[in-house]
Amino acid sequence: MEYIVVDLEWNQSPLGKGTEDKKMPFEIIEIGAVKVNEKNECIEEFHEYICPQRYLELHHHTQELLQIDMEVLEKADGFEEVIKRFFAWCGEEYMFCTWGAMDLTELQRNLRYYGLDELLSGPIRYYDAQKLFSMQFDEKKKAHTLEYAVDYMELEKQQSFHSAIHDARYTAKIFVQLDRELRKNFSIDSFHNPKSKQEEIYVVFDSYSKYISREFDSKEEAIEDKDVKGSICYLCGKKAAKKIKWFSSNTKNYYCLACCRSHGYIKGRIRMKKTEEGKVYAIKVLKLVDEAGANAIREKQHQLRLKRKERRNRKKA
Ligand SMILES: [Zn+2]
Repeated sequence: MEYIVVDLEWNQSPLGKGTEDKKMPFEIIEIGAVKVNEKNECIEEFHEYICPQRYLELHHHTQELLQIDMEVLEKADGFEEVIKRFFAWCGEEYMFCTWGAMDLTELQRNLRYYGLDELLSGPIRYYDAQKLFSMQFDEKKKAHTLEYAVDYMELEKQQSFHSAIHDARYTAKIFVQLDRELRKNFSIDSFHNPKSKQEEIYVVFDSYSKYISREFDSKEEAIEDKDVKGSICYLCGKKAAKKIKWFSSNTKNYYCLACCRSHGYIKGRIRMKKTEEGKVYAIKVLKLVDEAGANAIREKQHQLRLKRKERRNRKKA
């Protein structure tokens, strides 16, 4: 298995928020990647600029951040040509690694814009080096910037950040130095979400389980589905009794508290995700928690109830 550590830079509508093309709010203009082999060696690199076809000027933020000029981009090939060369370079058997969870999603959105969906079919299992870094070094599991991680690991820092190839190199250096054990913890990008029952995903990790459902017409319909709302203990496979039924904290997130007879409290969290076609699917994470973790859920529900009551009272007044 080889690892393709990839980093993308993108541009957005130069006219600012509200003027973006919803089908491609972020247009990829640079791609940098490092190939890492089984022995943890960085063996090859890929770096190309992409001539933009949707936003023909750079957003001032992009310009400042990337230190890049339109003249350079105009000399490059278009997305389709570059991306086909990139996938040919990737080879047959590989797993992606990125810093953070955005790059692969935006890559697939750009592919879809050009009708190139078939080049990368998902859901994709990949490594989020940002997440792995936090798992190893930060108890609070905060998301850190690439530069923070480079400083923290005392890696050589001669190249500027926010260049696709520099960032890919930094990410690769971090990835190969992280504890290999952590590679059990792959991430799943569900831009290409499961469509049917058969395509649904259920994975058990060391300290939690993840389930990605098929599509539903609405989140109300989704939360009523028995597989979505179920709270099966991921250690023993037995049904854990609900102590607090699913409640929503905002339009996207639901929480519950269950208890397995053998393993104790299980905290449930569902994030409702919208597809580009307006359908809804659920990502559910179940995690064993201690008494403090259980209390945190109780407190969350309590606070929500107070807020609702306040709102009702204000309406009456
Ligand atoms: Zn159990």
